[in-house]
Order: sequence, then C-alpha cells, then structure tokens
Amino acid sequence: MILSLNPTYFCNFRNGKCAETCYLTKDQLASSQLLSIDKIKQRVEELTVSFVLEHIDLYGGEITVLPIDYQIELMTFLSSLDVSVNLVTNLSNPDSPFITHLPRNFTLSISWDYQARQAADKIFERMKKLESGFSILSLASHEYSSFDPEMILKMQMELPKLKSFEIKPYNQNQSNKQSYTHKDFENLIQKYILKYQELRPHYRLVNIDLLDLCLSKRKSSWSDQHLYLTPNNELSVLEFDSQGREYFKKVDSIKDYLTWAQTEKSLYSADPHCQQCPYLGHCLSEHLKPIDHFETNGCSGFKNLIDWYATSLPVP
Ligand code: SF4
Repeated sequence: MILSLNPTYFCNFRNGKCAETCYLTKDQLASSQLLSIDKIKQRVEELTVSFVLEHIDLYGGEITVLPIDYQIELMTFLSSLDVSVNLVTNLSNPDSPFITHLPRNFTLSISWDYQARQAADKIFERMKKLESGFSILSLASHEYSSFDPEMILKMQMELPKLKSFEIKPYNQNQSNKQSYTHKDFENLIQKYILKYQELRPHYRLVNIDLLDLCLSKRKSSWSDQHLYLTPNNELSVLEFDSQGREYFKKVDSIKDYLTWAQTEKSLYSADPHCQQCPYLGHCLSEHLKPIDHFETNGCSGFKNLIDWYATSLPVP
C-alpha cells in the first residue's frame, strides 16, 4: 500500500504561477489546517492492520515551511517506520530539517517546472548545491510544454546530484481547467524520450522506466493500493467529478475503500476500449479517467504513447 500523506494544504507559493495548475484551490492553499502527528500515527496504525504499508509520499501544500517543531516530530515518526518515504518539496526552505537532515529511509523530490513556476532560477541554483541525491518532478502544463526539451534536459545535466526526472500529466481539477489533452502529453513525452536518448544524461527519465514497467506488466494502473490522507484526517481517493475534474473523494472506512477500488476495476474492465487493450491493468494511468473521444483525445492510460514506445524499441 502507498499512502500519500498531506498533513497540510498550505503552500507559500500559493500566489504565484504554479497555483494556475495546482490541484488545490486558493482557499486550500491558504488554509492553516494541520493534521496532528497523533492522528497521523493512528491512521498509519489503522492502515497496517489491513495492508502492508510499503511507501509514503509526503507532500502538501509545502511541508518544509511548517513550524519547525512539527517538522521534527513528523520526521522522527516517519523515520522510525520500516517504509520508504518520498518528500515532495518546492525547495523554498533549504534550512528545513527535512533537507538538512534527510533521514535514511527518505528520498527527495523537487517540484520544478522551469519558468512555469515561480522562483525557478533561485531553486535551480539551490538544486546545484544539494549534497544529497534528488529527483525533479515537472508538471506537463500548457506552458511547460512550450519549453524546448533539449534546453531543459541540458540544463538539468548541470545538476550533479540529480538522479531522476519525471514529467507528470496535468489533470483538470476543481481549481483550474487548462485545455491540455492526453494527446498533448503523449506528444510531449515522445519528444523528451527522443531527445533523452540522443543526449544520454547522467540521470534517469522516469517516464521511460514507467513505459518499461507497462510493457513487462509490472506496473499496476489500479487504485487498489493507493490511499490519500488529507489535513482534515480523511482517508481519500482521487476521483473525477461529473465534469471530469479531479478531486479528493472521502472514503468512510477501509471497507468502503476496497469497495470503491473493486468498482474501478469492474468499470474499466468493462469499458469497450480498455476491454480490448493489451495494457489493461498495467497502463500508464495514475488513476483511471472515463474515456471520451478516444480517437481524438486518447486515454488517461496513454495507450498511444505505450504503442509508440513499444514499436520504437530496438529489435532484440
Ligand atoms: S491504456 Fe487506455 S484503453 Fe488501455 S487500459 Fe489503460 S485507459 Fe484503458
């Protein structure tokens, strides 16, 4: 089981550019609501009764700007667990204990979208000086997709401790609605893969790793192993509303979650496109979205991208 832990939605970058694509609303990003460490402990205990907890993604909001005592207590608790933890941060506070004393079971991911996110140059200079290995997560927004992949990949080659880079798909949500299609994402990733193969940087392109996992059927696209814990102590899943906008849907109990996850499987296994898709259950989707206009828009599992990648592999 993967737990996405959001103890807060508060973000110090809430008035800048990245709020234009953030999945949280302005009110959420300004909210001071903070989930207590005791409640986090209780939820983790509750989950471990039903599941093997393997990994925690820790993000918000922005964790590194929370009160220092809270950060230390949270870090102490999470570092005592026998699970891997990935901290996602905008690196606006390099003095956070999470950055200066990164525990051994932690990895560090930095959200950086070049000029599509505020303070891009300052954060880039900080990444150059980092002493621990880290990853970059970028969001494939409309603006990000206008940047030259060669320029981005080469720029990131100046970061000696960069281990991996991943471009995440944008989803319309209850805060913003960019006109960015599945096909736009597929085209972007194709460009990055081709340029990456030409430049051969020292860091991994995770989008390629994920495609390899799809083809070898080692990736799961079901949501039956992924729960979210929100600042108001609600266990949630990512769902799409009637307008196709992503939001956190509360689940009342583990039993409800398992029912929801089973319904997802049944629904997509019966979808006419998914039914005959060779990647069913293993496609690139992070959470499946109802398919409309497959021919013009593709799908959230990015079937066209997987097909393209499969045929572009060298013949053994
Ligand atoms: S790739 Fe698309 S069509 Fe195939 S299973 Fe995933 S969502 Fe369905």
